[in-house]
Amino acid sequence: MMSDVTLINIKEEILAENKGRATKLRAGLDDKGIFLVNFMSSPGSGKTSLIVRTIEQLRDQFRIAVIEGDVDSAVDAERVAEEGVPAVQIKTGGSCHLTAAMVEKGLDALSLESLDLLFLENIGNLICPVGSDTGAHLNVALLSVPEGDDKPLKYPKIFKTADAFIVNKTDVLDYFDFDLESFKRRMRRLNPEAPLFEVSCKTGEGVDLWSRWLRGRVRAPAS
Ligand code: MG
Ligand code: ZN
Repeated sequence: MMSDVTLINIKEEILAENKGRATKLRAGLDDKGIFLVNFMSSPGSGKTSLIVRTIEQLRDQFRIAVIEGDVDSAVDAERVAEEGVPAVQIKTGGSCHLTAAMVEKGLDALSLESLDLLFLENIGNLICPVGSDTGAHLNVALLSVPEGDDKPLKYPKIFKTADAFIVNKTDVLDYFDFDLESFKRRMRRLNPEAPLFEVSCKTGEGVDLWSRWLRGRVRAPAS
């Protein structure tokens, strides 16, 4: 009998539970004066490179640490640790996005009293990290030139919801069929407000503008 069927929407329940945890986590970080930035992109867009470049720019002004999410390796955390900042690697063991519970575990491994700015490198994909609140104050989406200018058409949700955008690898613009103006038009249709930075983590071009903007956001009082 159809009337005996109980339907449980697991996905909604999990998302709601995660949202509650993330809200609590964010409030806890606010109390400690820590600003959490979540970096999202496809694999290979340059999240780790951008984090390293940003550390170089801001390490004199803030005490920085990094939580790296990866399915199964610690290479990114090792690279970040070479910068001399505390780095924690979360191996998700197959899960394709970070949850607030995973970030909590990462926080347990850091000394939060001596921290102002925390970077979170999410698992490389443009889909499910978007729906999973990590407790971050700022969600940054990266796209690199070789990936193509059509990404806003294919993955509208991340372009609708991120707080800031970075186009990385501008040093290879001449070699790829990436039309920066088409990309901006497509992106602006989904998100008219969020700032967009054009950078090359390889040459360092544009990293200063992005870092200066981020510095302003970290210092701005929490809203
Ligand atoms: Mg990486
Ligand atoms: Zn996922």
